Amino acid sequence: MADLPSHIIAVADLTRVITDIFDKAGCDRAEAARIATHLISANLTGHDSHGVIRTPRYVSWLAEGKLVAGQTPEVITESATHAVLDGRYGFGQTIGEIATDLGISKAKAAGLSMIALRHAGHIGRIGGWAERAAAQGLISIHFVNVAQSVLVAPFGAVDRRFGTNPVCIGIPAAGDEPMLLLDFATSLVAEGKVLVASNGGKPIPEGSLVAPDGSLSTDPEVLYGPLTPTSPRNPANGPGALRAFGEHKGSGLAFMCDVLAGVLTGGGASGPLDPALDGRVSNGMLSIYIDAAHFGATHFAREAAAYAAWVREAAPAEHGADVLAPGDREARMRTERLRDGIPLQLDTWAAICAVAETLGVAIT
Ligand code: NAD
Repeated sequence: MADLPSHIIAVADLTRVITDIFDKAGCDRAEAARIATHLISANLTGHDSHGVIRTPRYVSWLAEGKLVAGQTPEVITESATHAVLDGRYGFGQTIGEIATDLGISKAKAAGLSMIALRHAGHIGRIGGWAERAAAQGLISIHFVNVAQSVLVAPFGAVDRRFGTNPVCIGIPAAGDEPMLLLDFATSLVAEGKVLVASNGGKPIPEGSLVAPDGSLSTDPEVLYGPLTPTSPRNPANGPGALRAFGEHKGSGLAFMCDVLAGVLTGGGASGPLDPALDGRVSNGMLSIYIDAAHFGATHFAREAAAYAAWVREAAPAEHGADVLAPGDREARMRTERLRDGIPLQLDTWAAICAVAETLGVAIT
């Protein structure tokens, strides 16, 4: 994407536009700002697939009643160390924040907590929730599924059976060191990266998609069906599937995300698709929050940071290249984009401007 012409916009300006859009679309101002902040944090960390590119889709889902503004989760069961929450299709940025904060408060009191969240609207970049827990000094582990979104073929298959099912682990920062953050989809690429590629952005890596005849592909039409520059990108229209990363290992991890974040939370696995839900997609998330101090690991963050420093010192395979710890790339990108602004693909910016115009939001 870096080589393509882009619209570069300062974080404050983008935050104002996206907040105004969700405000006009039917959210209260606080929720609109929350959605904007969370989406823009994905752009800031370099995960444009989960950033403001999602705005037009969220606005349509809100208008269609597939996402609900101003929603709070229903507490299904609760104890000192766990809770099962039903997000009732509220915006994931609101529901995810409430679920994370509940997990944080329980873990601070008991040393450990587990929150099973179902039926949340799209909760975006999962790393944002791990960052929220890490800011409170907590380790967090998240298994996520995408109910009613079947996009990924299991190892050895061509039919879709999994969502893109991210896994995330966050380790709190020690002093000025960056926090350690592992956060990725279990598909070889997130669907949003195919979306970006279909708009002329960064191409997806070799072997990211599998066609119905079993051949590997990088062509977004395998996922979306025939495309024109402006046609909607609907994965339901494509004949093929995304592939899981790491062959049988990543495929197994994706499978377990559907079992833990879908079946256990009660939100359901990614499929089979239920026609009654009419494409109403939701995230399930099983999150574990840990206070290392309760485990006697009083210097945990410092020792983890020292280990990360040693990992970074490993001799690079490629001369002059950096060896990174999980989260380093995101931390660097955040510094860069806070300083220089966020580059948005021209199509992404045009789609945001079109939504803004429909809602009467001024772009200045
Ligand atoms: P990715 O492939 O960019 O991997 C990111 C992870 O790899 C990070 O932990 C990063 O620090 C690490 N990393 C990157 N380059 C590295 C290097 N050179 N050396 C060492 N570590 C490195 O991520 P992705 O799979 O494209 O996922 C993108 C985002 O999409 C994630 O934030 C994820 O949470 C989100 N997502 C959300 C959903 C949802 O339904 N809400 C679904 C899928 C993905």
